[in-house]
Parts: sequence; structure tokens; C-alpha cells
Amino acid sequence: MLCQSNDELQLLVNQAREVIEDGNVADYIPALAKAEQNKLSVALFYPDGRLYSAGDTSENFTLQSISKVLALALALIDHGEEYVFQRVGKEPTGDPFNSIAKLETNKPSKPLNPMINAGALAVTHMIKGESVGHRFERLLEFIRCLSSNETISYNEEIAKSEYDTADLNRALAFFMKQHDVITENIEGLMDLYTKQCAIEMNCNDLARIGCVLAMDGRNPETDEQIIPVDVARICKTFMVTCGMYNASGEFAINVGIPAKSGVAGGIMGSIPKKCGIGIFGPSLDDKGNSIAGIRLLEMMSRQYSLSMF
Ligand code: GLU
Repeated sequence: MLCQSNDELQLLVNQAREVIEDGNVADYIPALAKAEQNKLSVALFYPDGRLYSAGDTSENFTLQSISKVLALALALIDHGEEYVFQRVGKEPTGDPFNSIAKLETNKPSKPLNPMINAGALAVTHMIKGESVGHRFERLLEFIRCLSSNETISYNEEIAKSEYDTADLNRALAFFMKQHDVITENIEGLMDLYTKQCAIEMNCNDLARIGCVLAMDGRNPETDEQIIPVDVARICKTFMVTCGMYNASGEFAINVGIPAKSGVAGGIMGSIPKKCGIGIFGPSLDDKGNSIAGIRLLEMMSRQYSLSMF
């Protein structure tokens, strides 16, 4: 049986807190380095509308890499599968998320998957709109709809900090422009991508989005099909094969659910047909995943038999 109370979750949070000190907050930009390492929160959202949560649940955090899944869903809605996968691959890399190496060695020259930065940039490039601002508004509106929260916005300080220091991402984008994967102005794309990464919410919002994916793209509360079934399936499959950076294989063995993490410490989990999970814990392990978040999911997976495998 799945979790039935906030108290059950609180016990797990207390235990998972023990590993917080073994990790570190992301420090690649100054705005993220200011995060409070000891924060930890979890929420579970069920299709019948129940929400259980524990820890620092009102704490907001930026989506970072979790946004890659949502941008992919929108790009697939905008262009369809064939167009998108002509420009970005479907295979895990085993490399760090920001690696440039395989862009050159992979032939034809396209990023290996949409969850590494190169692939994510190629996907964000595909989001339709009349201007960068309009494309961002469309993405934001999509995420507001998925989370049933009209107030969701982005953190300007973090977006700016990312933009000012995104030279490796610029390098990836320029490489892809040379090979016609990207055709737009790179500074516009960097503006859009860094704002996308800085979209901010709490663990309750994230659990609701995880639940929409779990329910094959349908919002269980409004019955609205926000994401087509096939697109939701593709997103969840990428979450399994490359959602947890280059620790995705280990995570599949130890936890066994579709999940996507981000460097700000968020993890979105999606248990097919059952529920969505939102976690925030900014202390990261050496692969860039929330150290206490992973511990929490390992304990939840054992206690509630969550593994799909
Ligand atoms: N904004 C980050 C980047 O693109 C996201 C990284 C991540 O969460 O993995 O470098």
C-alpha cells in the first residue's frame, strides 16, 4: 500500500536527513550556492486529489534540469515525434550532463538525448512562438497548467546568474548551430533556456506535475488531457533511462521509478497510474542528485514497493 499520512512521510524525512551533510549545494552559479543545505521536503499527489507532504514544503526551488522533461513535452506537442527525433537522439550517454564530447563523435552530429544540456538546448530551440518572450510565456503557461498553479513564475536572479555564466552551454549551442541542429540566434536561446531552468515552485506543485505524467498526461482533477498519451510515455521513458544524470542505472535498480532531478535539488517522480512525487533537498551527491532525496526515494521504494521492475 502507498503512503497514507503526512506522519509516515515525516518519519522518512527525519531518517533521510542523516545523509544531508555528506553532500554539497550546487555552486556553479553564485545564486544557487546560497541555498540552505539542510532543507528537505517531499510531497505525494494522488489522482483522487489527496496530497501528503512533510518537511520544508513551502520552500521554493528552481526546476533546472527537471524543466527539460517539460520542454520536451511541449516541443513534441509543437512538432511531433518524427521532427523532434531527427534533431535529438534517444540514447543515454553515461557522460556528465554538460559534456560536449559526444557532440563531435556522434554521427550524424546531433545530441544523444534531450536530458543532457546539448539535447535540452536543441529541444528548447524547438518550442514554437513569435518571439523569445512569447515562447517562454507558452512554456510557463504549460507548466502552470500541469501544476494547476497559475502563480508559477521564474526566479530572475537565478536566471540572470545562469545567463551570465552559461559559456559552456553557449559553446554547446554554437557547436550545434554549426551543424544546423540549431538555427536561431544563440543569445535569444540562452535567454529562453536560462529562464526555463529558473522556473520556480515547491514540492507540492512538482508532485502534481509528476501525477499528470503518471496519469498518461491527463490532469486527474479536471480530466483535461494536457499532454498526449504518447508524449507522456516518451517523457517517462527518458526519465527512466537518463533522468538521474549518469546515476540513472543505479537509480533504476535501487528505486525503479521514472524520475528527473535538477541541480537545485529537486526531484520529480512519476509512478505510472498511481501518483506523482515532488522532492526538494539542495544538498547534492557527486553526480548532482539530491543526496537526501535519493535516500528518501530508496526508503519509499522499499516501504511501498514502488519499483516498476
Ligand atoms: N541550468 C543548468 C544548466 O543548464 C541546469 C543543470 C541541471 O540541473 O542539471 O547548466
